[in-house]
Amino acid sequence: METHESKLLSVVIPAHNEAPGIANTLDTIKETLATCSMEWEIIVVDDGSRDKTFARLNELARADARIKSIRLSRNFGKEAALLAGLRTAKGDAVVTIDSDLQHPPQLIPAMIDAWRKGAKVVDAEKRSREKDGAFTRLRAKLFYSLLSKLGGINLQNSSDFKLLDRVVVDAITRDLAESQRFYRGLSDWVGYSHETIPFDVESRIKGEGKWTFWGLIHLATTAIVSFTSAPLR
Ligand code: UDP
Ligand code: MG
Repeated sequence: METHESKLLSVVIPAHNEAPGIANTLDTIKETLATCSMEWEIIVVDDGSRDKTFARLNELARADARIKSIRLSRNFGKEAALLAGLRTAKGDAVVTIDSDLQHPPQLIPAMIDAWRKGAKVVDAEKRSREKDGAFTRLRAKLFYSLLSKLGGINLQNSSDFKLLDRVVVDAITRDLAESQRFYRGLSDWVGYSHETIPFDVESRIKGEGKWTFWGLIHLATTAIVSFTSAPLR
């Protein structure tokens, strides 16, 4: 008989220049996973880091076979790292989470509960962003209001912290051919039953935020071109 315990949870983590904090992040996530009564694997995607992230990951993977690291050949950006992780994940359910503990791993058990009750996508939604700087908050506000004005899609407060059922992972990784991705939009667009869990954005544990101005402009362009016909009109 298949039980909860025989199901596999994959945790996918994109990481770019996160050497100082990555071990602590994985420890914190492992503490939570120990309470989830599921088998698990952690897949960290090193997105072309120039620091010692990959070396640290290899040490951690040697010490625990459930930790896997993959490395992109250069810095492709978070969207590409997430996709590579989703393609590698073998889980019946997959959680995507940032590597800087701004997404609290303590939410994962509640996400699993919602999934066990039938949700195919569990979206962790930002309740407060007090710990994000004023500039980051303003930037996010502009980004989402542009998206909603141009395309009528409301992703305000959405995040990349999600749990996806296997059917949704397959729909996103196998059935869609886009090379430029906007994960938050796609996981909404594919449909299926969604459940939302609010969370408070934590402070970054170590290092700096990795977004450059042009990186964000690129993401916003991908989001707008993928999800709205406004540019055509
Ligand atoms: N990240 C990545 N590639 C990049 C930039 C960021 O994989 O080119 C990862 C980063 O290591 C972190 C997550 O994406 O795990 C979110 O990045 P960050 O904390 O810089 O962004 P913010 O919290 O401001 O959204
Ligand atoms: Mg962050």
